This record gives sequence, structure tokens and C-alpha cells, in this order.
Amino acid sequence: MDMKRAEIEINGIVQGIGFRPFIYNLARTHSIRGWVLNNEKGVLIDAESEDGNLHQFIQEIPNLAPPLARIESFKIKHLEPLGYTTFEIRKSEEAQGKFVLISPDVATCNQCLSELFSSENFRYRYPFTNCTLCGPRFTIIKDIPYDRHKTTMAPFIMCPVCQKEYEDPSDRRFHAQPNACSTCGPSLRLEDKEGKEVSEDPIEKTLDLLAKGRTVAIKGLGGFHLACDAKNQDAVSSLRSRKFREDKPFAVMCRDMEEVRKHCEVNQEEERLLLSVERPIVILRRKKDSVIGHAVAPYQDTLGVMLPYSPPHHLLLNGPLKALVMTSGNVSDEPISYKNDEAFNRLSKIADYFLFHNREIHMRCDDSVSRIYEGKPYVLRRSRGYVPFPIKLSFPLEMILACGGELKNTFCLTRGQYAFMSHHIGDLENLETLTSFEEGIEHFKKLFYIEPKALAYDLHPDYLSTQYALSIPDIPRIGAQHHHAHIVSAMAENGIEGDVIGVSLDGTGFGLDGTIWGGEFIKANLRDFDRLAHLKKVPMPGSSMAIKEPWRMAMVYLSEAFGDEAIHLRIDLMKRIDFQKWDILERAIEKKINTPWTSSMGRFFDAISSLLSIRDKVQYEGQAAIELEMIADKEIRETYPFYLIKEESPFAIDSTEVIRGVVGDLTEGVSNSKISGKFHRTIAHMIIETCEVMRSSESLNRVVLSGGVFQNIFLLTLVTEGLKRSGFNVYTHHLVPANDGGISLGQAVIGHMRLFQCV
Ligand SMILES: [Zn+2]
Ligand SMILES: [Zn+2]
Repeated sequence: MDMKRAEIEINGIVQGIGFRPFIYNLARTHSIRGWVLNNEKGVLIDAESEDGNLHQFIQEIPNLAPPLARIESFKIKHLEPLGYTTFEIRKSEEAQGKFVLISPDVATCNQCLSELFSSENFRYRYPFTNCTLCGPRFTIIKDIPYDRHKTTMAPFIMCPVCQKEYEDPSDRRFHAQPNACSTCGPSLRLEDKEGKEVSEDPIEKTLDLLAKGRTVAIKGLGGFHLACDAKNQDAVSSLRSRKFREDKPFAVMCRDMEEVRKHCEVNQEEERLLLSVERPIVILRRKKDSVIGHAVAPYQDTLGVMLPYSPPHHLLLNGPLKALVMTSGNVSDEPISYKNDEAFNRLSKIADYFLFHNREIHMRCDDSVSRIYEGKPYVLRRSRGYVPFPIKLSFPLEMILACGGELKNTFCLTRGQYAFMSHHIGDLENLETLTSFEEGIEHFKKLFYIEPKALAYDLHPDYLSTQYALSIPDIPRIGAQHHHAHIVSAMAENGIEGDVIGVSLDGTGFGLDGTIWGGEFIKANLRDFDRLAHLKKVPMPGSSMAIKEPWRMAMVYLSEAFGDEAIHLRIDLMKRIDFQKWDILERAIEKKINTPWTSSMGRFFDAISSLLSIRDKVQYEGQAAIELEMIADKEIRETYPFYLIKEESPFAIDSTEVIRGVVGDLTEGVSNSKISGKFHRTIAHMIIETCEVMRSSESLNRVVLSGGVFQNIFLLTLVTEGLKRSGFNVYTHHLVPANDGGISLGQAVIGHMRLFQCV
């Protein structure tokens, strides 16, 4: 027989995800002899067999690899056969201090699932079943290397059955660190809000409570959810009022795809995303006849849906309830609760009961949120299931800590070609979130052996992330402009360099001139930028109050367009205005009291939303714009006029005529839906025309789109299509959020370029 031997080196994300047992079993299937081990670069295999077997073995590795594996390189070296007689998993070469990637938490796999529901299996209905391919990872790891005694599974000593599985390389629980069963592992415990244990079966009783319309706080993988029956309008409304979350949509967990289809339109890509091992919340178009209560997502035509991703979810949704509200267990703006007593203290005014378990969560991690755009995932919140897998960059970076922004904060630590973006920290506006931010940074530094050589931060002096960066002594640091960071973040995930046209549109970002930017057209590269155009500036009376109350922006824009005549306009808005209040605000604008100026696109959308009587006050960031997008007539072709004031540098985009046009349509009784459609098309034209002007003056043909405004898929589609028709190459996000959750990546790259790359 013709024996062949090959050394196979596989790099990428191949550790801690069941790769070695996979190789072991594949080797046995093909009568391969030799060994496999983890080393600092990835996985090394020495394989020997007859030619045909070896060839097949090598072919099947990338095709059958565990779902979380990301094979980046696959090198084969042919060697002289040595005459191995067995195949074994050898001890890792990883010496202390060597860096390895760490797996995110993974949704329960099909094999574990079938055991969960098979009455003959000894893990029948055991809520913590997992294997090398699934289960908790990131959220239970306290330190590296990833070994049971360094996870929150340490207090649970494996019973002989679990231990045997753990040690058997042919078992699918070989080295599954959270391996457990009902004899030796974690367990559930149901308590009422007085802290008294409910003696019945925790799952059965929880189901019973949910069916009766109660709210139960359920401890999950990365924190607590507040759960109730999604089809029970009263239960949902009561949860909403207790949570002080008046309009913000709740996510729904559906039993399976069949149930999802009863409530939402789902295309193939959306289905794939829902079923992916990351199991994000996917934003779907809601069906008109869905029986899910409107209070779940008031004023929305979409629904955030996810499928069960841990055994307790599967058990809970296997009964009569097929759709549960599963919203983060927090009180309005605080971070999600993740410790038992802390959750009990904070959530006892919201939840009627608590479904606890005794496996500690070390790192809190919210559900991720994504949607499909252009047939690909378009992530809006990158957290559980994705973190801490890195974003791969096209070139290596120094070790940098980028502190992110304020809203939807994430931080980012870089190491070589990897950018480790953190889980969703939340809005850095209170002490709890700041603590979570600081703890998260220390944890990531430890996990990935990163000692930052420099810091990058936002220029806004009031951001807690900025103050944190400035408080650390003796380290080089770079302030990155907010909108530049957005663009560089999108460039980094697309692996592009050189000068581009950056269209950076959002609500708020600190500008170089001390005003608030947000409708920015910049010539940008990874290091620097030049502001070439922006929305014409308007005052923001009352500063942050103008964000919460879009009617203020509507009045500001009306005054710009109509002067003193504004208050005599025959539109509904005028019936709602408190003129005394507006009078005070007008004087504040005149005297420049608490009235910053802004070129924000977000505020322009707010103004139109209020003008159309959609929303005068918002309950959450972006609400006015989201509701404006929702009603837009997508077929309408008309637009409103606007002007580029090209004499100025940077040049301003004057939207006075847009306002006049909208008011004209309103007085003529044109529907809101048509006006909104026309407005969206106008903004798209504005962007495309501005890019065309920049193309001719700067000879640039690549456009990068970023900023929270591009969460508006209708606008994003119009802009992308229009730019492509005009011959531009267009880049936007997919892996990293377009909103402020993505800027830490851009900051890190800017920091590296400015501090460590010679011009
Ligand atoms: Zn499994
Ligand atoms: Zn056991």
C-alpha cells in the first residue's frame, strides 16, 4: 500500500470550539494515524494513511469543520511516512502567556437538543446541557487558558459520567468545559419576589405563570431577560409600564421558524440569520394579521425576533406558549442585570417571579441585533454570539485601546490584525454602565494579553469614555473626530485604504469647531480627514432637550424657512405648539443661551417627523426618524428642491426649500406617507449630488457610508442604488454597526495611523 504523510497547519479561529475532537473523529473515520494539537498559531495535524484516505481527510476538514471555525489559512506539507499506529490528541503546545482566540457563546446544537427532548437520555430536560459545539463560553470565562477551573463552572465537580465524557476524545463532550448533568451541574430555582423558593418544577411553574400573564425575570447566558406572553396584550402593557420603556420595542422569542412565519415575512437570508449559531435578534417585517400584541413594538411595522438559544428557552417554548417577550432585564437605561442578588434588587418592581440558576455569569452580554441588507447580515448591535471574536483587519496594528463613544458604547482593543470589539456596554451615562465599561476593558486586556501602547477616544469632552481615556496617566493618546471614526470603521471592516468620500450621517458628534456635527461629507483616509460639506447649521434650543423634543427642531427649521411668518402657518403642528415656551426658546437662540449649533441629519429627520405630526417628543434615541421611515411611500418619485452653497468652504447644503415644500404639501393635504417618501428621496438626492460635486473636485470615486442615519434601510437603499448608478464604488457596514456602537473600531485605526505610522 502506498503510504502518505502530511503535516497540516490550520490558522484562524480553531481553538476552544471543538476542532480537535472533530479532527480526531474525522481521522478515525478515514483510518488516519498520527496526532493533532493546538499550538500558538492554531491547530497542527500530523496525518498518515494511504493516499486516497489522506486526500479525502484533507478535503473534508474545511467542509465539515465545526460551525464556529473560521479557517484563515490551510497549509499542507508532505513528509516521509513514520509508521504511526494510532491517532491521538496531543497535549497543547500553548505555553503560558501565549494568546489564543476565545469563542463567543453558542446556541444549543441539534444533537444536544434532541437529547434534551429524548426521555431515554440521562440529560432529558436538563437545562444546562451543552457540548464542544455549543453552550456558554465568553460569559463564563474568568481567565485564560480556557479551562474549567478558570470558568464559573469551577464550583461544580463533574460526576463520573460527565468526567468520562470529558476525557474521551471520541465523545462529543471531550473537553467541553461547561459539561454538566443534573447530578453534578447547575440547576434552576424559581423564587417569588419576596425571595421565597417555589417548590414546584421551575420550568413547569414558570410556564404556568407566564400563561397566566405574569412577568418572570429569567436568567440566561449573558444576563436576565424579562419575559411574558407576547400574545397577552395586558401582560405586555404591564411589563412596558413597569419597565418605564414607553415605546421602545421589545424582542420576541419564537419557538421555531413556523411560529416566526405566523408573525413576520421571512426571506431565505433572514431565516439563515435567525437559525445561525449566533442567534441574534433579527428585525423582520411584521405581518398585519399577527396576533402578537401591538404593545410589543408600538408604532412599528417591524418586529425583533429571535429563536431559542439555550436549553431553558427550548424547554419554556415547548409548551403552550410559542412566543415570549424577552427583553433585557434592566430598568430603562441601566445595563442588563447578570447577578442573582443584583437582579433581585433591581428587578423586583418589574418581575413577579425570578427564574434563577446557580451558574454565575462572569461577563454580561446582551442579545445581538441584526437585519438583512443586500442579502447579507447588517448588524445593529454586535454582542452575544459574536463577541469576543475579532474583526480581522487588512494590516497589523499596535496594541491600542479605543474607548468608543457615549451611546451604545463599545470599546475596542487591537492586537496584530485583530480588532477585539467589546460586547454592547450600553449608554455610558451612569455609574453602573461606567463600571461595566471599566471592568470589560480589564477583562479583555487579560483575555487577549493586550497591554495598550496608546489610547484613542472621542473628542466630546463630556463623554465618560473620553474622561476615562484622559484619566489614564503616561500613555500616548489620540482624540478621533466622531464622524471620521464612523467612516474609518466602515473602511476597516471593508479592508480599504487611501482617500475616500465619507458620508457620515447621525444625530450627534462633537465637531472640530466645537459645534455639533451630524450631516458630514468628508474626504477621509485612515489617518486624516477634510470636512468638505455639511448640512447647513441650525440652532438647537435647549441642547439635549432639542433631541428629546423634535417639535423644537421643527420650529427652528420653520423659522429658517418662513421667518416670523412661521407661527401663522396653517398646519397641525401650530395647534400643538406652546407659544409661550417657543417664545422663551427663541430668546434663548437669540442670546445664545444653552443653544449649540448643529449640522445634524438626525435633527433634520426629527424636524420633519414633528412637522408631519408623527412625533413631537421621543421616548428613545432615533424614534422620530424610525417612525418617519416606517410610513414612507416607497414608490413616490418626486423630490423637494435643495441648494448646495458652493461658495463656502466647506460648503453647506441648504434645505430651506425642503421645508417650504413639505409645508406646501401639508397645506394641500398630501398624505404623510407621500411626504415622507418624497423627503427620503430628497435626502438621497442630496447625498448623491454632494458626492458628485466632491468627485469632480477631489477626483475620488469611492464612497463610504456610515453613521446611525444609515440604520434607515429605505434611505440606505436609495443612496446606494443612486450612487452606483452614478458610477461610484459604494462601501458600508455589515460586521460592525453603522451607529455609535461601531466607532471604537475606527478610533483604534485612526490612533494607530496617527501615532505609529510615519507619513
Ligand atoms: Zn451541543
Ligand atoms: Zn454529571
